[in-house]
Amino acid sequence: MTDTTHTGGDVRLSGISKSYGSFTAVHPLDLTVPQGSFFALLGASGCGKTTTLRMIAGLEDPTTGTVFLGDTDVTDLPPYKRPVNTVFQSYALFPHLNIHENVAFGLRRRGIKSVKKQVGDMLDLVQLGDKANHKPHQLSGGQQQRVAVARALINHPQVLLLDEPLGALDLKLRRQMQLELKRIQTEVGITFVHVTHDQEEAMTMADTVAVMNGGRVEQLGAPADLYENPRTTFVANFLGTSNLIEAEVAEAGTEIVVTAGGGKLRLPAGRCVADTRTGGKLLVGVRPEKITLAHADDAGAIADGRNKVTGRIVATSFIGVSTQYVVDGPAGTGLQVYEQNVERDARLAPGAEVVLHWNPAHTFGLDAAQDIS
Ligand code: ATP
Repeated sequence: MTDTTHTGGDVRLSGISKSYGSFTAVHPLDLTVPQGSFFALLGASGCGKTTTLRMIAGLEDPTTGTVFLGDTDVTDLPPYKRPVNTVFQSYALFPHLNIHENVAFGLRRRGIKSVKKQVGDMLDLVQLGDKANHKPHQLSGGQQQRVAVARALINHPQVLLLDEPLGALDLKLRRQMQLELKRIQTEVGITFVHVTHDQEEAMTMADTVAVMNGGRVEQLGAPADLYENPRTTFVANFLGTSNLIEAEVAEAGTEIVVTAGGGKLRLPAGRCVADTRTGGKLLVGVRPEKITLAHADDAGAIADGRNKVTGRIVATSFIGVSTQYVVDGPAGTGLQVYEQNVERDARLAPGAEVVLHWNPAHTFGLDAAQDIS
């Protein structure tokens, strides 16, 4: 990276696409990443997220469209002239240089001789101030990745791109590093664009998540919005468990009444992305932690106005933070329920006849014409 005249601003992709021969990896895409935000590109393998990232970096030429950094069109600038740096999954540290020299590398390449303070500050930022004289092989995977982040930040890029940077780490370390990267981003205030296939990772770290599918952004939003108001079955299922039940509109209005599995369920029209006219087919969903289970014998005690579905427990598992049930019922098979703080004796066993009930406000409706993937 070189010194540039760029003054900051949003990353803006305008009609960006990428084709390889007749195959389109990224369909024309308009996307704005606000300056200073932590932005995640989330999707399954092959959905085009890395290609999108590489077009921002300048490592891939777009087939169509323009990349703006602030007001500057950087589409034709080579990577080293963009105020952008990338951290890859492979840390790519220089094995023969110590940590200080690895981080100093970008400064030295720019002819800056007096690097001690800057490198020291950067190592403090990633909490490796005491490892300056170590060689990379003496550090853990998470520590090496933090060095890679420090090295990428030393030249104060306008944007840091992270391509599955935690993919090589074990689960526990990955969870720690997610929080660590989030802290670093908040501290430096630089725009981070992070590619991952891990929905929990994207939701833990990002202010905004773009869910990609088949080379398109299927939905963009804050993690909580995506989780609570998915607009497609793909997003509903990619971001957790959605308990989709086939239904038909019985009564239209601001609150919609649907028939599902022989019973009636209600949901707010505002949470419906489907045909809400009477007779319209849709899928209604509810997140597992929004559901309460009652034994069928206690169904009379359930408050009026709750959505209710009957079923039978087929599996019960205790995973520490919650008890998870799989329930088969007329309205859908394999419905999942997560309950917290269930006393050991109170756990319902497989075979138990139950009623699942929840607040209608937590129900969302999706277009039934889509695949349930
Ligand atoms: P992963 O997480 O597996 O890297 P991704 O979502 O990042 O997946 P991309 O690497 O962006 O996906 O690739 C998108 C699609 O474009 C894939 O089907 C891939 O095979 C294809 N692709 C990527 N690079 C090339 C290339 N140089 N030539 C042909 N096809 C390519």
